[in-house]
Amino acid sequence: MGVSFASLDPCVHCGFCLQACPTYLATGDEADSPRGRIVLMRALERGTIPPDDPALGQHLDACLGCRGCEPVCPSGVGYGRGLEAARALLAESRGIPLLARAILATFRRSWLWQPVFGGARVLRSLGVAGALAGPGRTGFAMAMVAATTPRFPAPRAGRRPSESGPTVALFRGCVMNALFAHVHAATRRTLTANGYRVIDVDGQVCCGALHDHAGDQRGARALAARNLRALAGRADYVAVNSAGCGALLKDYGHLLDSPAAGQFAETVRDVTELLAARGPISGGELEADVAYDAPCHLQHAQRVHEAPLSVLRAIPGLRLRLLPGSDHCCGSAGIYALLEPGLSRQVLDAKLASFRDAEPRPTIVATGNPGCLMQIGGGLRASGLPIAVAHPVELLDRSYAVAGLYGSPAA
Ligand code: SF4
Ligand code: SF4
Repeated sequence: MGVSFASLDPCVHCGFCLQACPTYLATGDEADSPRGRIVLMRALERGTIPPDDPALGQHLDACLGCRGCEPVCPSGVGYGRGLEAARALLAESRGIPLLARAILATFRRSWLWQPVFGGARVLRSLGVAGALAGPGRTGFAMAMVAATTPRFPAPRAGRRPSESGPTVALFRGCVMNALFAHVHAATRRTLTANGYRVIDVDGQVCCGALHDHAGDQRGARALAARNLRALAGRADYVAVNSAGCGALLKDYGHLLDSPAAGQFAETVRDVTELLAARGPISGGELEADVAYDAPCHLQHAQRVHEAPLSVLRAIPGLRLRLLPGSDHCCGSAGIYALLEPGLSRQVLDAKLASFRDAEPRPTIVATGNPGCLMQIGGGLRASGLPIAVAHPVELLDRSYAVAGLYGSPAA
């Protein structure tokens, strides 16, 4: 499949997208804005800037790929597709940087990433990650691991599954499966409580989003093909509780350029979409000030806005707010935080400031993506702010446990 920059054609260089771009807001440099990057991508396409030009590489590498520039664009520019084409060209000509290659190779093989995350779980359960959390590079990595700690005790008994509801296969993924098993458990319980029959499907692998964003199209397609073989035709829906994975699974038709993959993609839903389609049913009271922070790949890539809010509004007592900048990227962006740590932290700092300065200050930040949970949760811990992070489904699950929906009411 050849690369195409046609999605950038409608750009009229109006600049409406500039204030929606976290990297432009951080650096103030036009070349770090969507409009500036579109000019660079066009020059790359025409060959007036060679792919090994260091400035070109620097400004395109610094893009978060958050697609915050798309919904504000009056001309309907498909920035994400253009970036995908540019990164594929860059990867072809200059190769993928060594650190990124090592990370992507790890995520292609479960026997490599499982021990890495196993080590992180040990650090988490021994309390080492929490004790070493701090502002430096190692401290921040530890803070990110500590942020994956389950918030609530698991309820003891589950609700009996419906015998006639739609079937749902849970997409497990890699980071979610390894560090957020408690969110998977909450996903199974809340879907079941809302009348779905959840099934487990073996043979799944990493979704390939990290590879796709880094320009490793071959790696992304190989993983997508394996997931398609494992999951296609197994259930009415595929439920995803990671916004980044969901966005790519919904795009498998384009990635694999196949009608079968397109049909599969039609069955993919974010877990909050499935829950919102059933109400969801209300739970017990949770007294908490919750700030919802929208993951870029849920709001911009999947265009899912209302469903996570419906999930949180089904929780009596929960005071829900959207703070200024809640629609801006947190700086996580897949492996971006590892490759561009300076800019990633600058982007995160703007978000942390909005939590710190909010009146009243939230007690929990809810967001539906593992990268965002770790980046925001890590940032909050590293800066000593007493604010927790949780997936919206974890909060609904807790509310159901409190209401006694799973058996005797939780304390
Ligand atoms: S991408 Fe859209 S908003 Fe940005 S400069 Fe081009 S036309 Fe204007
Ligand atoms: S994808 Fe995000 S970081 Fe990149 S240009 Fe668009 S708004 Fe800016």
